[in-house]
Amino acid sequence: MIYLDYQATTPVAPEVAKAMQAWIEEKFANPHSPSRWGNEAEAAIEVARKRVETAIGLKGGSVAFTGSATEAINWALKGSVENAGKGRNRIVTVATEHAAVLDTCEWLAAQGVDLTILPVQPDGRLDLELLARELDSRVLLVAVMQVNNEIGVTQPISEIATMAHDAGALMLCDGVQAFGRVEICKGPDLVAVSAHKIHGPKGIGGLWMRKGAEPAPFIHGGGQERGLRSGTLSPALCVGFGASAKLADERMTRDYDHVQKLWAAAIRALGEGWIINGSTAHRYHGNLNIRREGVDGARLIADLRDIAFSLGSACASGSGRPSHVLRALGLDYRETRSSIRLGFGRYTTQKELVDACRRIAAAAHAQEKLDA
Ligand code: PLP
Repeated sequence: MIYLDYQATTPVAPEVAKAMQAWIEEKFANPHSPSRWGNEAEAAIEVARKRVETAIGLKGGSVAFTGSATEAINWALKGSVENAGKGRNRIVTVATEHAAVLDTCEWLAAQGVDLTILPVQPDGRLDLELLARELDSRVLLVAVMQVNNEIGVTQPISEIATMAHDAGALMLCDGVQAFGRVEICKGPDLVAVSAHKIHGPKGIGGLWMRKGAEPAPFIHGGGQERGLRSGTLSPALCVGFGASAKLADERMTRDYDHVQKLWAAAIRALGEGWIINGSTAHRYHGNLNIRREGVDGARLIADLRDIAFSLGSACASGSGRPSHVLRALGLDYRETRSSIRLGFGRYTTQKELVDACRRIAAAAHAQEKLDA
């Protein structure tokens, strides 16, 4: 199989699996119990936390581990609403955000929060003048992702954070697709990250919180994570997350250069007739979202079962609904259906990517001939 779905998840790095092994097979102590074994597990978790914080690279805050980035985002949004000062009852976000943000915001809107979802320009970028017009003293939080999971387009997070702060609001950045691949932009108060997008294990994420901007607790219980997020931590998952963050940090330039070369090779191998969805300048190049007139993306996936690629987000692909991100760019229903997403990274070889792209191009051509 050729794996080209790096936005959905990434293969676990061998170094990560190795680091986790002892914590699965032998060291089972509860990291919150006071025994020597418990202390050892707790110390390993703190090393892991530092590694994740170092890789995030922001100053003046700390990370709490969560079960996923989805949980971190739910917590950030719901807990910030709970903490909001009098008169601040409004959230501003963007139409191309992940479902973890949009669905949580919709849920909050049903509870009485005033929600503004801003459109994007045809290249997927947010118009900052539009944002400026929406920011007033009623806004409690602005939520914008750094790298889009479906189209790879980046948003100017630092400028957005400054604008949010000038209006007295917090800024939440969904950093899931940026983390470990590009530097996280300075400025946000809250950043959600996930281990399985950076060659770590599934089932663990984190919320970086600027000191003083911690959201109200969302999961109640034993008071772990400084009383902010209860639940026994898994040393294996934390150690795995820490190892993947350290590796991503150390290899960032190398991985980034590799991705740039892969992008160029993929474009060459696909040949003529494809249109890239979203900005090509403001983009993470490990995400190639393309469309081709007259092609059915779902049929391409069915025709090429030994190549793993997708129509957009894993959630959108499963639902059969047209991608809300592509719709937000202004694509019509037919154009969204003719779009596919190729995602590649650290362990993708140029040869397998070129092979896959040539076969995708040939299958698209065959569809066109069949339908002509
Ligand atoms: N945000 C973005 C941009 C994502 O791509 C994803 C995962 O697909 C998430 C949030 C949710 O992450 P998790 O799988 O850790 O819940």
